Amino acid sequence: MIHRKSMEQIEHIRICGQIVFSVQQKLEALIKPGITTNHLDSVAETAILETGARPAFKGYHGFPASICASINASIVHGFPTDVPLVEGDIVSIDVGVELDGYFGDGAFTIGVGSISSDASDLIAVTHRCLELGIEHMRVDGRIGDISHAIQTHAEAAGYSIVREYGGHGIGRKLHESPHINNYGQAGNGPRLKVGHVFCIEPIVSMKKPEIEHADDGWTVYTRDRSLTAHCEHTVALTEDGPQILTLPPAATT
Ligand code: MG
Repeated sequence: MIHRKSMEQIEHIRICGQIVFSVQQKLEALIKPGITTNHLDSVAETAILETGARPAFKGYHGFPASICASINASIVHGFPTDVPLVEGDIVSIDVGVELDGYFGDGAFTIGVGSISSDASDLIAVTHRCLELGIEHMRVDGRIGDISHAIQTHAEAAGYSIVREYGGHGIGRKLHESPHINNYGQAGNGPRLKVGHVFCIEPIVSMKKPEIEHADDGWTVYTRDRSLTAHCEHTVALTEDGPQILTLPPAATT
């Protein structure tokens, strides 16, 4: 069962999404060689609390921090540490907030200082996968249309899709039905309806897609240690098409 949100509920989720965006902007400006992800986490937590919202990841299934920070071959769910970022790293930062019983969730991957052209290509392709996934969120389309668009673009670039993770519904909970695979066939799966609010989040590996869990119980790596990128928007399907909620109002499409 995929819950459909009213316009009023979507406005609540949009407020959360805009907090996510503003926190991401703050973090992006700080990311450079030498900074630690623990520092980014404390900046994010303070910024979220200042808005009256709550960091949605903190305590979620026991997650210890306000952001996920996943570096290089770390795919998702990395938690912040005191290890400084190094020139040439790529880091994915995932931010979730809850306000008034609604949630917003978004992620971006960014280079630390100057990065290899291979790494910047991976980030660009992953971001384009996100855009294509959102474009395929169409009224009366199917969830498989989103999945297929993401997979096709990643694989055309010679990359692979990490299959264990994907997008999800969001609203009154951080993770709601449905799960949205980043691979699949167009024309398959549930129909997309006005009022669906989904997190679209491609996770792309430069080489092989197989994963391995770290001893910390959270961080997930590619088994071959190839680089991965991950980006995410919270998106509402409206009568006018998909609207990205994790952007400032002027940039909302
Ligand atoms: Mg998410």
